[in-house]
Amino acid sequence: AVPLVVAVSTSLAAGRGLLIRDRAGFERARKLDAIVFDKTGTLTAGRFGVKGVASFGSLAEDELLRLAAGLESHSEHPIAQGIVAAAKEKGIQIPDAAEFENLSGRGAKARIEERTIRVVSPGYLREQEIPVDGDAVASLREGGNTLVYVLADQRPLGAIALADMVRDESREAIERLQTMGIDCIMLTGDAEAVAKAVAGELGLSDYFAEVLPNEKAERIQEVQRGGRTVAMVGDGVNDAPALVQSDLGIAIGAGTDVAVESADIVLVESDPRNVADVIELSRATYAKMI
Ligand code: ADP
Ligand code: MG
Repeated sequence: AVPLVVAVSTSLAAGRGLLIRDRAGFERARKLDAIVFDKTGTLTAGRFGVKGVASFGSLAEDELLRLAAGLESHSEHPIAQGIVAAAKEKGIQIPDAAEFENLSGRGAKARIEERTIRVVSPGYLREQEIPVDGDAVASLREGGNTLVYVLADQRPLGAIALADMVRDESREAIERLQTMGIDCIMLTGDAEAVAKAVAGELGLSDYFAEVLPNEKAERIQEVQRGGRTVAMVGDGVNDAPALVQSDLGIAIGAGTDVAVESADIVLVESDPRNVADVIELSRATYAKMI
C-alpha cells in the first residue's frame, strides 16, 4: 500500500503540473547532489532566430538561405525551424529536397538541385577537416550566436548565425536550486562559445559543450562518480538515454514522447522552476514519514 502522505503528495504534485511516473524517483529527489540540464528547449526557449548570413564566395546570402531552407524544411530541429522561418519571411521560394538524412548531433543533409547540401555544426567541419576562413564568420559569432555552415558537396558556401533566448524562468530555477545546495550543470550539443555565454548568463559554473547524442549518458555517469545522486532534465529524443542513466529523469512536458516515456517525472507546464518544486515536495513528504 502507498503511505497516505505519499498519495497526498502525488496528487498535490499533479495539481502543480508535476506528473510523477515513478515514485522511487520522487523519493530520490530529496537526496539530489547535482542536476544536469539540457540547454536547448530546456533552459532556453528553443526558438532560434536567424541573426546573420555570410557567404564565402559569389553566392548571394538569400541563395544560401534558400538552399539551407530546402534541406531544413525536412528537419524538426529548432535550428531548422529558425532557418525555414527566416527564408519564408524573406519571401524565398523553398526548393524541393530528396534523400533527407539527419547527421545525429551534427546537422543534416539532402539532395537539392543535383548537389548534396549539408547544414552542419562547427564540430562536423573539424571532424571532416574542412577548413573555413575564421575572419569571414567573426562578426556572426558576436553575442554568443549559434553558427551553422552550409556545404554543397562538402564545399563550404557560407554560414548562418542563429540566436535562442535564455528563459526568465531558468534564471529563477537555477538560483533556487543553488540556494538549496544543489550543483547545477548544463549539457549541450552546441558549440563551446555558445555554451559558455549561456552558462555565464545563468550563473552556472559547470557545463559540457559539443556533446554528441550518444555521449550524453556518459556525461551523466561522470557526474554520478563518487556515488553522487544526479538528476537529468531534458526534452529531446537525444536526451532519452541520459534520462534513463540518471537517478531521476525529468522530462519537459512540451518535449518529445521518447523523452517523456524515459522520465520518472514530467513537468507538464514545461517550467524549469518546477524542478525546485519537485525537490521541495519530496523533502517535505519523506521528512514527515521518519
Ligand atoms: P542540443 O539539443 O544540445 O542543442 P543537438 O544535439 O540537437 O544539440 O545539436 C547539436 C548541434 O548540431 C547543433 O548546435 C547544430 O550545430 C547541429 N545540428 C543538429 N541538427 C541540425 C540541423 N537540423 N540543422 C543544423 N544544425 C544542426
Ligand atoms: Mg534539446
